[in-house]
Amino acid sequence: MHDEELHLATLAIRSGHARTHEGEHSEPIYPTSSFVFESAADAATRFVEGAVGNIYSRFTNPTVRCFEERLAAMEGGEACVATSSGMSAVLSLCMAVLKTGDHVVCSDSVFGSIMSLFNRYFVKFGVEISYVPPQQLDAWRAAIKPNTKLLFLETPSNPLSAIGDIQGIARIAQEKGIVFAVDNCFCTPALQKPLALGADVTIHSATKYLDGQGRVLGGAVVGSKALVGSDVFGFMRTAGPSMSPFNAWVLLKGLETLSLRMRAHSAAALELAQWLEQHPAVTHVHYAGLISHPQHQLASRQQSGFGGIIAFVVKGGREAAWSVIDATRMLSITANLGDVKTTITHPATTTHARITQSERDRAGIVEGLIRISVGLEDLLDIKHDLQRGLDALLK
Ligand SMILES: *Cc1c(COP(=O)(O)O)cnc(C)c1O
Repeated sequence: MHDEELHLATLAIRSGHARTHEGEHSEPIYPTSSFVFESAADAATRFVEGAVGNIYSRFTNPTVRCFEERLAAMEGGEACVATSSGMSAVLSLCMAVLKTGDHVVCSDSVFGSIMSLFNRYFVKFGVEISYVPPQQLDAWRAAIKPNTKLLFLETPSNPLSAIGDIQGIARIAQEKGIVFAVDNCFCTPALQKPLALGADVTIHSATKYLDGQGRVLGGAVVGSKALVGSDVFGFMRTAGPSMSPFNAWVLLKGLETLSLRMRAHSAAALELAQWLEQHPAVTHVHYAGLISHPQHQLASRQQSGFGGIIAFVVKGGREAAWSVIDATRMLSITANLGDVKTTITHPATTTHARITQSERDRAGIVEGLIRISVGLEDLLDIKHDLQRGLDALLK
């Protein structure tokens, strides 16, 4: 059977692993920094540019390769480069694509460190950045200049679930010959396939749902052989933000249950979002699975599920939001997301604390906003834990 005939849940379990002569059933870990050659002549052939065979684990490692091949198969990409974190995946893509004098158009609601990477570091090297609201196609088109080399979208956005039209933006990128990258962290290939919708590259923080159990950091870039397999790989093997074999092995085990987990996260989040929408202490719920979400139709077209992240606003501003968070006994008060454990965060004073008030206003990060990454505990227990604080707001 060829990979292209298999479905996602099967690829997540069966692809990437070439069984060794030991006949192992589960994927082996190769914790080795370097690899041995048969002879001086063999060493010389492996060092020829483009030659196959392992040399050193900063370049390639069989466990990391297994993770890369599996994720590439699941995203429908020709090549994948695994990295030490999601941020080093973004860095590796940018270093491969951009040079001094180039311009980037980026969604204005991407992960905060991505904005810092552009605003504090890439500008030092003469790269220009423009930010646009992800859901406004016209804004993407209008922001493009002759020197634009990269469009960067995260959809659904964090924390308000704004949806970018992947096909629409891909058409603009193709017309102008610009690389279009989608951060697929919130949906994962189990719910959304950006490459099939026309994106050139998908980016992952594997730290989130690909692991899914809060154990390791990791990242990945998936796309064509030329861009990812050659240019991004070239930067990664030279600069060294490589994934460790141990982390790759943990992430392989994470991928095996990804489809199942994403379906369960999505089902629980939808039910919780509908429940929150009915609660009298809640004024607004941001979740693309709700009919009330302004881009529910678009999300239904380009995603096969709505994911596990909900944001909602309580009456009474910061004090009320903090009291709901502090009234929980089970939920984890942490800024991380994409875990089997439900997490709860106050974005205005944590993930979005370092941007200015006017930037927060523009991004819709109000003081009463709470973000939840819905985990896989019993939904009744999650509701009870939230209800305590929400009901207290009505007294
Ligand atoms: C966490 C995150 C990142 C960065 O990933 P790390 O693994 O923390 O480096 C990038 N994009 C999104 C959407 C994220 O949530």
